[in-house]
Order: sequence, then C-alpha cells, then structure tokens
Amino acid sequence: MTATSGKTAIVAGASIGGLSAAAALAGRFGDVLVLDRDTLPEGATWRMGAGQGAHLHQLLKAGEQALEKLLPGITQDFYDAGAVDLRVGRDVKVFDFGGWMDECDAGFSVTSLSRPAYEAVLRKRVGALPGVTIRQESDVARLIVENGVCTGVELSNGTKLAADLVVDASGMNGPMMAKLAEDGHAAFETEHVKINVAYTTARFRKPERYRGEQMGYFFLPAPPGKAFGFIVPIENDEWIISLGTRGADVPPRDVEALRQHAMKLPDQTVYDRIKDAELLSEVKTFRKPTATRRKIWEAAKWPDNLLPFGDALSSVNPTYGQGMTVAALEAEALAGMLDARAESGAGMSGLGKEYLTAAAEISGRAWNLSVNSDYVYPETEGERPANYAMNRAMAATLRKLADEHIDFRIARYRMVHLVDSATALRDGPLAVRFFTALQGSMA
Ligand SMILES: Cc1cc2nc3c(=O)[nH]c(=O)nc-3n(C[C@H](O)[C@H](O)[C@H](O)COP(=O)(O)OP(=O)(O)OC[C@H]3O[C@@H](n4cnc5c(N)ncnc54)[C@H](O)[C@@H]3O)c2cc1C
Repeated sequence: MTATSGKTAIVAGASIGGLSAAAALAGRFGDVLVLDRDTLPEGATWRMGAGQGAHLHQLLKAGEQALEKLLPGITQDFYDAGAVDLRVGRDVKVFDFGGWMDECDAGFSVTSLSRPAYEAVLRKRVGALPGVTIRQESDVARLIVENGVCTGVELSNGTKLAADLVVDASGMNGPMMAKLAEDGHAAFETEHVKINVAYTTARFRKPERYRGEQMGYFFLPAPPGKAFGFIVPIENDEWIISLGTRGADVPPRDVEALRQHAMKLPDQTVYDRIKDAELLSEVKTFRKPTATRRKIWEAAKWPDNLLPFGDALSSVNPTYGQGMTVAALEAEALAGMLDARAESGAGMSGLGKEYLTAAAEISGRAWNLSVNSDYVYPETEGERPANYAMNRAMAATLRKLADEHIDFRIARYRMVHLVDSATALRDGPLAVRFFTALQGSMA
C-alpha cells in the first residue's frame, strides 16, 4: 500500500510520452486513465494524432533501458514485433562531417522498428497494466485548476474528470498549455531555436539483391552541406528512409524527387538502394521550424499536481532521435520518485517540483546536445549562446578523437544514445586525454 495507491491519475495523450508516464504511474496510483483525442489503431498503423509517426524513429539505447525498467520484457516484445537488432557502431554506418566513421562495436545493440510499431507494442503493454484504462476519442479541452492545484481535466464534450495527479503528454501543439497560461494559471518562458529542418520519408521493400541486409546508413553533412539522410531496416524486411534538408530548401515531395535527393548525399549508398526499390508507403513530408522548450521548471506560476511530459515540455530537432527516449527517461525518473516517496511516507507534496527538476535535467541534456549541433549550421537562426565557441571546440575535439581512437568512438556513441551524459567525458577515464587534445586544438 503506497501513499498514492487509492488515488487517481489522468494522463492526457496516449502517445509515447503518455504511455511511458502511465507505465510509471501504474501500480503506484489506484487508477490511471489515459485519454487521447485520436482514434487509436489496433496495431502498428499510422494515425493522425501522431503524424510524425510516418517518419524514421530511432529509440536510443537509454530510452530502451528506461522502458525495460518500467515494463520488463518490452525489448523482447519489440523484437517479437519484428524489430531488427542493430549493433551500434557496426550495423549502422555513419557518414559524419565528410567521412565514414570507422567501424567499432560500441558494446550495445538497439531495436529498429517503425514508430507505429513501437507505439503499438507500448500501448498493448501499458493497456494491460493493473488499473490502467486507455480511452480513445477523448479530447481534453482544458486542465482544471483550483486554488493553484490541478484537480482534473475537462473534455471538449463538457465532461469533467477529477484526478489527484494530471500528466500533460499532449505533445508540443496540444492546446492545454496555451489555455492554462491564458487563464492565468501558469506563467513560464518558452524558448525557441529556429532550426528550419524538413524531412521526407517513405518505406520501401528491399530489392532482391538487398534482402536480408540488416544495415543502417546515416548521412550527417558538414556545413555548408544541408542534405542529410537515414536509411534503416525495420520490421518485415523493409527499409524506412528519411531524407531532409535545412533552411528554405524544399524537401522532396514524391518518390522521384526523393531518389534525386538521395543522389545529393555524399555517396550513392541510399540512392543505390532505392533507385529500383518498390515503394510501400505514401511519401510524407514534415517541416520542423523550431526546437522549442517550455521552461516550466523556472515558472513564476505553475499548478501543483500537474506534470508536463515528453514533447509537451521540450521538443528538439528530430534528426538526433531523442524525443521518445527523453519521455521514457522522464517516466523512469517519476517512477523512482514515487517509489522513494512510498518508502519514506512523503506523500505527494512537492512532487511537481521534484519531477520538474529531474525533467529539466533530462530534457536539458537532449536540448544541449541537439541545439549545439544545430548551431553549427548557418540555417539555424538566432543568437549563439555565450559558450558556443567552447561547445563547438569540444564537439570538434571529440569528433577528431573518435575518428582516431576506438574508446572515444564508443564514448561518443554512448553520449549520443544518452546512456552517458557529457560529464562522463569531463569526469571519466578519458578526461585527461580529452582536455589535452582540446587545449592543443585551441592553442
Ligand atoms: C519527423 C520527426 C522524426 C522524429 N524522429 C524521432 C526519432 O528518431 N526518435 C525519437 O525518439 N523521436 C523522434 N521524433 C520525436 C518524437 O516523435 C516525439 O518526441 C515523441 O513522439 C513525443 O511523444 P509525446 O507523447 O510527448 O507527444 P506526441 O507523440 O506528439 O503525442 C501527443 C499525443 O497527445 C494527443 N493529444 C493532443 N492533444 C490532445 C488533447 N487535447 N486531448 C487528448 N489527447 C491529445 C495526440 O493525439 C497524441 O497521441 C521525431 C519527430 C519528428 C517530427
């Protein structure tokens, strides 16, 4: 019996963020009601409410580990759903800033599935947890706040639902946050960085000559290059291919333009694979003008018992593949807090503040890595931060060391997968060599 076991939690949004939050709340709250305005599919099908799901989604290692802690066995469920096992450093070749990174075994594998398949597995697992109900076609119109405490939600049909804790996992464009601020219940700063990234994605059947090839290829340009591209194997021996660009360039809008765009990458790996491959999906585009974060952890005003999750808090350049992992890490942190409170008998007082402090650190790690990488490109608008030159020198030093030394290459993969934070370099066994090289580069 925990302090929250008789209580009700409501989660607005049944996408990766909401489902991860529900996994953290299940068993720790008596009832967990997950509401989504979308019609939720039975299986691994694209849906309107998570339109970005058509595009390539990598689940970073740290995200997989967090989900595994919350939902033991889910990694195997991903494999059972057809995920391809990709050994990081070996099975995904990375063309980074002008050259192929040398092969290495980073010491861990990741799953590779389509985003709708990740969501379908998660939805099935979370929906089966005790006390959890997932209700589709339930549009949350507003969060109810009384005397500075969030006490529930109101649906657009006027139904009011009471809760002891509310999670807003309605994504970056959900209407609730704006309404909350408009009604005077919240005051916080929102930070935008204009990244101007555009994606085009399609799924292909592998031609006979590539059947069974389980390799991914990533192309990340050095500026002034803008064309980036990813091809990875997913379930059913298919490829998902996302190609993109930055700035005002128009992304390819049909399969022929996609093939032409593939030719602009530094080598023909992607083009060779898709030049005669059978198209299995629509060709979908997505433009992401800004990386955006709501700095709620510094809010002048914020209701108690309301936790913003996933993209509702922070949404970065998708190229770095961090969004789902950040949501999963936030959920893991929340579960830990609730367990510690259950043990100490602390109840829910101050939970929001404790959660927001952790979420600021988790999302901040992803934000710093991605925004600092974005600032390298001239298409990213906005004033570079005061420490930009140092950040850039550190990133360049790490890239060079990773080219030359396998231990730095592994360290870099671990950071990119959010398994280690940047402090691992500063404080870990590579620190002396790293700072010596950094000093040398700046001399
Ligand atoms: C092109 C692209 C590629 C990406 N690639 C990656 C990647 O490789 N790896 C990765 O980790 N991340 C990637 N991301 C980011 C990832 O998609 C998001 O970070 C992640 O989906 C966030 O999950 P979320 O649950 O917070 O929000 P969302 O996925 O946006 O879900 C919000 C949910 O809330 C529901 N909702 C909205 N409003 C309401 C309401 N009023 N009432 C009820 N329900 C509501 C919606 O229907 C939806 O289900 C990518 C994003 C884009 C755009």
